[in-house]
Amino acid sequence: MAAIDIAGVSTTYPNGVRAVDGLDLRVADGELFALLGPSGCGKTTLLRTIAGLEPAAEGSVTIGSRDVTRLPPGARGVAMVFQDYALFPHMTVAENVGYPLRVRRAPREVQRSTAERVASGLSLSELLDRRPGQLSGGQQQRAALARALAVEADVLLLDEPLSNLDARLRLEARTFLKRLQHDLGLTTVFVTHDQAEALALADRIAVMEAGRVRQLGTPREVFQRPSDTFVANFIGSTPMNLLDAVVRDGHVECAGARLARVPHLASGTGVIVGVRPEYLRVDEHGITGRVSIVENLGVTSLVTLECAGGALVSLTVPEQDEPALGRSMAVTAAPGRLLLYAAEDGRLLDSR
Ligand code: ADP
Ligand code: MG
Repeated sequence: MAAIDIAGVSTTYPNGVRAVDGLDLRVADGELFALLGPSGCGKTTLLRTIAGLEPAAEGSVTIGSRDVTRLPPGARGVAMVFQDYALFPHMTVAENVGYPLRVRRAPREVQRSTAERVASGLSLSELLDRRPGQLSGGQQQRAALARALAVEADVLLLDEPLSNLDARLRLEARTFLKRLQHDLGLTTVFVTHDQAEALALADRIAVMEAGRVRQLGTPREVFQRPSDTFVANFIGSTPMNLLDAVVRDGHVECAGARLARVPHLASGTGVIVGVRPEYLRVDEHGITGRVSIVENLGVTSLVTLECAGGALVSLTVPEQDEPALGRSMAVTAAPGRLLLYAAEDGRLLDSR
């Protein structure tokens, strides 16, 4: 077991793309850590840099007490599962799982017995003689995990481990991964572009953009207090309301309503009000608008109000309380749920 320390790491491709850009990150021993961000932000590259499959152009990677920056992948004590699983199609599950040991020239019996042991832990025992083409997506995922786990490792790296699974299987696989990680106690970094997956699984999350970490925190911190409007936009199953507002006489004015006291901000300061649809409440003193869209989300409905100046504000209500289209409603944020961002650069200023 081991912590991972990434210090000032940059990774550049031969075509000049700087996919990881001076990044600092420390993953604690035994942690289940998510790298979350939109496609192309550098998640896979960072994972490959930790694994040693891409060289770091700058900075250092330390695993446990060892600086592994210049070590080849096989010497880093790292197991990696690739997004497409990368199983060998012409080999059986047993041969696939035993492969890393074959490369290390372990005796044939050891290859087979290790494959059997790891496969049994992942409920694959019945499938050892099948080829990948004869497995479901979830079984292929477990076979890829088994292959990664066949070699003793301190660190497990998973690139979008659940993205090839259908919705139902993905939920099952989530629970399975979480339990496996807990049982093995392996320091695990998993990549995802799915914020719900990161929130549900991870001990901590790094939200990435353009090769850098925008925010690092627990799922709760990242959800409740996104540190800038980029993260605010990215996290949440319904998008956060981000409304243009201005400070007047010590109050935030937004879409024709006075929302919060901000005595420390000068009149005329531009701010962006952030509030999640789930945290808006009906309140006659709040922002007023007409119901323009109602979407049924199942247990709740998402109601969009068209407010003064054309601002759109969404809130969730219990499904049975769906308002009629065209109705007038006024809403305000529940206490502590209103976030204020600087209009200038989108960074979090305050919450109310
Ligand atoms: P993510 O996994 O977050 O989608 P990647 O790490 O795959 O992002 O890619 C980060 C950036 O590096 C992107 O701009 C991508 O186009 C670029 N990139 C990825 N792989 C290569 C490569 N082998 N050669 C050149 N550029 C690459
Ligand atoms: Mg990727």
